[in-house]
Amino acid sequence: MTDDTKSFFFDLLDTPSPTGFETPGQRVWADYVRDHVDAVDTDAYGTAWATLDGSDSDAPRLMLDAHVDEIGFMVRHITDDGFIYVNRIGGSDRAIARGLRVRVLGDDGPVTGVVGNTAIHIRDTKNEKVPKVHELFVDVGAEDKDGVHDLGIRVGHPMVFDVSPTELSDTRISARAIDNRLGGFIIAQVLERLADDRPASTVQGANSVQEEIGGHGAEMVTHRLEPDLAVAFDVTHATGSPGISSTEHGEVKMGEGPAITHGTSTHPQVVQRLMQVAEQEDISLQHEPSARRTGTDTDSIFKSRSGVPSGLVSVPLRYMHSTVEVVDTDDIEQCVQLLTAFARSLDADDEFGVTL
Ligand SMILES: [Zn+2]
Repeated sequence: MTDDTKSFFFDLLDTPSPTGFETPGQRVWADYVRDHVDAVDTDAYGTAWATLDGSDSDAPRLMLDAHVDEIGFMVRHITDDGFIYVNRIGGSDRAIARGLRVRVLGDDGPVTGVVGNTAIHIRDTKNEKVPKVHELFVDVGAEDKDGVHDLGIRVGHPMVFDVSPTELSDTRISARAIDNRLGGFIIAQVLERLADDRPASTVQGANSVQEEIGGHGAEMVTHRLEPDLAVAFDVTHATGSPGISSTEHGEVKMGEGPAITHGTSTHPQVVQRLMQVAEQEDISLQHEPSARRTGTDTDSIFKSRSGVPSGLVSVPLRYMHSTVEVVDTDDIEQCVQLLTAFARSLDADDEFGVTL
């Protein structure tokens, strides 16, 4: 990763974009990709897509998809003495929340708060359990309810954990929201490389909103763009850290390349082409099963209109949905190379369907 691309990635990671409030993250993404593509557009709910026109209008149109939104919390209730109670946005982890800083995204800009943590000396540690969401409260330093309102905060404002990205080693980065700011980053890199020497296929890279609550942005944008085929990017659980059973969760390792999903919403011919391209490019792939749902945007994309042949490529991630998610930059680079070569492999003779 060059210094420029790393600074773009860190900018993306540092820009809060909780589900339903993704516009700040989209602006960072659009400002970067705009230099490399023919057009950047958005829809009513804020999904952004970048279009790179191909050299052959008969070649299949490819949509790449990632999701821009991240998990977080939302102001549910403000008490008379100025404490904020919350709802979860998406699958936020209650077990790690206490004692962390948050950024509340209020009307007058971000406000720093802390998730209150009653001291170990005076709480009932013998019967301790993971707190319920309604037991978590945020302290923004206000003396009462009016003090919270004076900071520009009301019920319905979102918040994220206040954690900036950091490098752990030469190839490992830790941050919140690598799920899935990483996907938008990968799409931007793929489009930038394709722009140097245009492929036959028109490629549209969509950074979709509202994945963490059900793939809604991907559903809207797929309906609009009507691609001939699609590949979604997301993160998947790296299982190499302590305490994860391979018999229960399978095995995906960090640093051993992107994972490709087989089954249900993924299309056999798209999967086959991804595997062929990986072999030609000497990219190591890992494999994941999907017996029902993938839990990604792919579930929305493949059933758009009369069906869109789809693939799912995932980057191994440790500690998903926490403040210390960890990713390996070698896996990211392999993923960019795989999808750049995949897009270049498409031509007018390609048809992705089922012949009986
Ligand atoms: Zn997620």
